[in-house]
Amino acid sequence: MDQKMFCYQCEQTAGCAGCTGSTGVCGKTAETARLQDQLVGAMIGLARAAEGVECPGDRVYRTVIEGLFTTLTNVSFDDDAIRAQIEKTHREKERLLAAPVKKSAGPREKAAGESGAAASVQDTDDYNLGLLWDMDPDIRSLKSLILFGLKGMAAYAYHALMLGASDETVNQFFLTGLREIAKDGTVESLLPTVLKVGEVNLTCMAMLDAANTGTYGTPIPVSVPLVVERGPFIVVTGHDLKDLELLLKQTEGKGVNIYTHGEMLPAHAYPELRKYPQLKGNFGTAWQNQQKEFADIPAPILFTTN
Ligand code: SF4
Repeated sequence: MDQKMFCYQCEQTAGCAGCTGSTGVCGKTAETARLQDQLVGAMIGLARAAEGVECPGDRVYRTVIEGLFTTLTNVSFDDDAIRAQIEKTHREKERLLAAPVKKSAGPREKAAGESGAAASVQDTDDYNLGLLWDMDPDIRSLKSLILFGLKGMAAYAYHALMLGASDETVNQFFLTGLREIAKDGTVESLLPTVLKVGEVNLTCMAMLDAANTGTYGTPIPVSVPLVVERGPFIVVTGHDLKDLELLLKQTEGKGVNIYTHGEMLPAHAYPELRKYPQLKGNFGTAWQNQQKEFADIPAPILFTTN
């Protein structure tokens, strides 16, 4: 392809076909897009290294959840952070390959025998995601559905993890789905995995719902003031309820008011967050107006995850 980048993972994609220039419609640079693809390729390598391992472990799961979430639309354009995540993914793979393999007759076990230390190198190499973008359109579309579904599911899994919730079926499926992207596939062989993404995603959403309501109570309809009161205040934006809770605890009795912005607005509906009297209301409008609305407010802003 004679393109500087290729990304078509969101509805804003250029010409409803793909962002291919120096930057995407969202502002993502070609270098960031390249690094994100490299990170996905590294995670596929990690998932391959975990094939046949009975319990890859929380470190592997967390690395994959963080990595997939990092590559989701508009989550991180921080190239250094993405490079660090690639290095972390490689370290996890090396650690996994150096550990004894337990149970299960996956490809890695066949190649390595009793010890992962001798696993076949090409079995666990990083995957070149550029191969995916050049595939037959039907195969590319099905594999993209799997990849984008995993990325979205990782956002839910990450937020649940921040509240201490995790699910082995969901975690294992992140690895299964990543491996599927690198395999030779047909429409017939890929469709069941695409459907499985939807099924496991429901499990993941239920886990996040249970984590949110178990921690902060069942949301109820409430009125949210839109007026900023006199005095010092902090604005918090993004989705991370745990970050908001920590901020509310740290500002108890300090005379500093807290205002949500954009996607943090629903936090007011949770009783265990609403109980803090300094959570006063909502400032501004939606996330896409952050730069404009935050340009000259006389207050610190806490940006949390997408
Ligand atoms: S995430 Fe950005 S670069 Fe990718 S398709 Fe959407 S607008 Fe284009």
